[in-house]
Amino acid sequence: MTTTNSKKTVGTGRDVTSEIFFLTRALKAPSLREAASRLAERARAEEWSHEEYLAACLQREVAARDAHGAEGRIRAARFPARKSLEDFDFDHQRSLKRETIAHLGTLDFIAGKENVIFLGPPGTGKTHLATGLAIRACQAGHRVAFATAAQWVARLLDAHNAGKLSEELTRLGRYPLIVVDEVGYIPFEPEAANLFFQFISGRYERASVIVTSNKPFGRWGEVFGDDTVAAAMIDRLVHHAEVISLRGDSFRMRGRDLGRVPPAETSND
Ligand code: ADP
Ligand code: MG
Repeated sequence: MTTTNSKKTVGTGRDVTSEIFFLTRALKAPSLREAASRLAERARAEEWSHEEYLAACLQREVAARDAHGAEGRIRAARFPARKSLEDFDFDHQRSLKRETIAHLGTLDFIAGKENVIFLGPPGTGKTHLATGLAIRACQAGHRVAFATAAQWVARLLDAHNAGKLSEELTRLGRYPLIVVDEVGYIPFEPEAANLFFQFISGRYERASVIVTSNKPFGRWGEVFGDDTVAAAMIDRLVHHAEVISLRGDSFRMRGRDLGRVPPAETSND
């Protein structure tokens, strides 16, 4: 290989640009293809060694694949909306310490198979924070599944009716993080409550759950139709958990004078 010229031919006279194009396509490495010639310019200008150039090229492709993997996991998790911890306004949510979320954002709780519970009235940021943490988890390489409690129960009932409950519970057990949003909005029938209990207790000390609820624990008996089932579930959920109680007015209503007719607005969040 010639070292001084920047012409795209090798010693044999082959067109190296089209050869790189062909080879990176065969390798399914589009980011490498895009980066190769740009990095080659830099390598010449900055006199990189061959190894440094190769490492820089491969690094681009690996970074692109990592980002793509995270994107795939975020899509697969089925979040209702994309919300990040960075977008959360802690000045609005005064009942929550920034450091608490920063610590959870390190995802130590997933490694420790611990849970996170967000409690509080509507609009206080429960779903936002649960999603933000779960997106972090996706970015860190963890598989995540998100659904409301009602959706989880419907899935478990389907699996149960198809005689595949234990298969489904095993399959879900492979997710290091599951988000159960909106426990408490809809009370459960006894069978649903029982399935949900199996779901939660099966993950106890094995894999993490993030739960959000508009009801304090004292009212979960109403949700599950049975104080004993509720108590047993809460016991397992909170044994290794960060329980975060949010307070305050709904973020959805911010800036509105609730005593008057709200001004016309197009926002539908
Ligand atoms: P909850 O699940 O507690 O009912 P959400 O998390 O869905 O509330 O919040 C309602 C809306 O307000 C969402 O669009 C969310 O992104 C936004 N929101 C709530 N709290 C905050 C906050 N402190 N900073 C930024 N956005 C917020
Ligand atoms: Mg919510």
